[in-house]
Amino acid sequence: MPQSPAADDDLLELLDEPEHTDAELRAVARPWRILIVDDDGDVHKATELAMQGLTIEDQPLVFLHANSAAQARQMLAAEDDLAVVLLDVVMESEDAGLQLVRHIRDELRLNAVRIVLRTGQPGYAPEIETVQAYDINDYKTKSELTRTRLYTVLTAAVRSYRQICSLEANRRGLEMIVESSTSLSRLRGLSRFAEGVVTQLCALLGILPEGLVCAQVNGEADEEIKIVAAAGQYSGLIDRPLASVMIPSVRDRLLRCLAQQRNLYDDGTVLYFGMGAGRAMAALVDVGRPLGELDQQLLRAFCSNIAVGFENVVLYSQLLDQAYNDPLLRLPNRNRFVELLDRNLKDPTGVTLALIDIDDFSDINDAFGHSFGDQVLLAVVHRMSEVLGLNSAMARVGADTFGVLGEHDKVCPETVNAVFADPFVVAGERLQLSATAGLVRLGESAAVGSELLLDAQIALKRAKQQHRGSSQYFSNAMGTDARERFKLLKGLRTAFEDSRLFVVYQPQVHLDTGRTIGAEALLRWKTEDGRFVPPDQFIPLAEQSGLIIAIGEFVLRTACIQLKRLQELGHADFRMAVNISMAQFRHPGFLETLTRALRDAGVPGANLELEITESMAMEEAELMLRVLADIRHLGVSVAIDDFGTGFSSLSQLRQLRVDRLKIDRAFVQEAQSSSAGSTIAQMVINLGHGLGLTVIAEGIETEEQRRYLLGLGCHEGQGWLFAKPMPADQLESWMTKP
Ligand code: C2E
Ligand code: MG
Ligand code: MG
Repeated sequence: MPQSPAADDDLLELLDEPEHTDAELRAVARPWRILIVDDDGDVHKATELAMQGLTIEDQPLVFLHANSAAQARQMLAAEDDLAVVLLDVVMESEDAGLQLVRHIRDELRLNAVRIVLRTGQPGYAPEIETVQAYDINDYKTKSELTRTRLYTVLTAAVRSYRQICSLEANRRGLEMIVESSTSLSRLRGLSRFAEGVVTQLCALLGILPEGLVCAQVNGEADEEIKIVAAAGQYSGLIDRPLASVMIPSVRDRLLRCLAQQRNLYDDGTVLYFGMGAGRAMAALVDVGRPLGELDQQLLRAFCSNIAVGFENVVLYSQLLDQAYNDPLLRLPNRNRFVELLDRNLKDPTGVTLALIDIDDFSDINDAFGHSFGDQVLLAVVHRMSEVLGLNSAMARVGADTFGVLGEHDKVCPETVNAVFADPFVVAGERLQLSATAGLVRLGESAAVGSELLLDAQIALKRAKQQHRGSSQYFSNAMGTDARERFKLLKGLRTAFEDSRLFVVYQPQVHLDTGRTIGAEALLRWKTEDGRFVPPDQFIPLAEQSGLIIAIGEFVLRTACIQLKRLQELGHADFRMAVNISMAQFRHPGFLETLTRALRDAGVPGANLELEITESMAMEEAELMLRVLADIRHLGVSVAIDDFGTGFSSLSQLRQLRVDRLKIDRAFVQEAQSSSAGSTIAQMVINLGHGLGLTVIAEGIETEEQRRYLLGLGCHEGQGWLFAKPMPADQLESWMTKP
């Protein structure tokens, strides 16, 4: 039978043809069941005798007997497949028959069963209204009912019963197809969908969800076809390859259906759901009877409706597959591994998690190309599964990092070493690889899922700090440290996004006159609970995470705008000092950022000073020289901060051509305590003068310190003696003081 292309066509076909041929009979072998209700025993015998051996529409007749209306009520309540009731009108009472008719139609709501009234006396005929209201088929006096008449009456009644039934089935079928495609479209996973198909299909055919198998193909060879859903006696077959099913009646019929790409109705029912691109599903149902044309039409409509849903499910499963699996190594990916970790926690005793990171893998990629790199990874996976055994779970959690989960003695530094002990041979090349591992004993950790992975990562980082190729078990002390920092960084990021970072300014003064020269811009972070986090804590985090690029730009722009304000207030010579990190210096956009900050605020470069630390100044000489030259070009001056704490090379210092040295506050404080002799402060000041640089001292807290520094020839300074760092508005009023 050709497959109708669209579901709609099949639906139309069903709607257009309410009349059906003999072949549509729902149940060929099942007899028509006829209930005789009569208080006269002879009538029962006579009727049965008269109809003996006769069939209607090729089906035999079966008689059921009730001797009273009351007994009939009981029987009717239990029977659901009666075609005709032959009913005596006068029994217990004059209208017992008519009461029963009312009961059948109104209370039992049996609308399909046909009713033929019989009575001994013509006077008891029901009103014509009653006949119509209760859908009574026929009314005959007993004397009228000869054998032939009875047969004609019954045949007409049975035919009309059959028609009502098939119309009813038709309507129910259509309803179910519509319902099933909506409810099935909600089921996402392939096996759940297939299971839904089983259930809906059986309901459509009016059989128990029993004995049904679905198989799916992905354009693959026969061996790859799998049972995706099964109910009843076949449920044991779930997930098995179809080829391994040893029941030929199941295996062969499903294979034949998939090969022929059509529904098969001979020798049981197998339905085909095709979607092109070699994807198809076949469903086998043990209906227990041959299906008529009506059922076949319903199933065709069902199949084409379902095929659309099935296609969506396959696409969805593929998406899921990609989200959870690594296509190259055919291993679970990080997402799946985290799920697995969560599940394993139910019994974490004796289980170890390891993160195994192949050392210098990027060098291999660079030297030999990516496809070679891929083969190396495959070789490592192969070796790992040999060494770690079947009971360990493996996943790819990063480009060259594997997650392994298994028993303590299977997943440990020794086995990791064993994996990499011998060289790997890839595409004819012999490679000696090594790997570094971080391990976590799950039983010893309170972490779950992705947190466990983080612990392993912390241990891995520690191991890498030791040396490549080593392994390190995670300890709680490691964790709190790293986790605190992680929390702090997260807090810093939100604080920055929520504009909770702000800039304060510490005045810089002439040490002899006390006149303000300018100010240093210093960043502040006030947490939501009102606590200040010291910049010594959060600036290094911002530097490591790269957040300093954005934060540094914010400080620079804010300081420039404040500088503009002060100039507008009449302080034309005011010099604003801004701290710059190495990461900012290295960033290719730094000069652009600096230029824009000056231009947007409308301030000359000459009023801006950048502070770089001494260690920065001594790093990457070439880069420093280049960037510093560009900065000078803008008229911006440069000071070397915390001077005296690093190991400056004099020649390099000369080359950099900076403007100022800033003596670190440690040496200012030391200067106060040591009364005589040469101090570092003194040396720095002499050095600065020798190089033709101005020197500024920071952290001046006492009058003695001020006088001492002045005596050494240092003329500028900042510190609590003069002012603490202050918000912008306070700085403005500070500047108006005489
Ligand atoms: P720094 O650049 O050496 O800043 C001077 C530090 O000394 C400031 O600490 C300041 O508050 C403190 N200070 C000033 N006068 C005195 C004093 O008389 N006694 C004492 N004991 N301390 C004094 P703060 O604000 O905590 O900043 C610490 C460091 O954080 C800064 O050292 C700087 O390296 C960094 N920092 C601050 N803001 C920024 C910024 O916007 N960008 C960058 N890259 N680093 C910044
Ligand atoms: Mg500074
Ligand atoms: Mg400093």
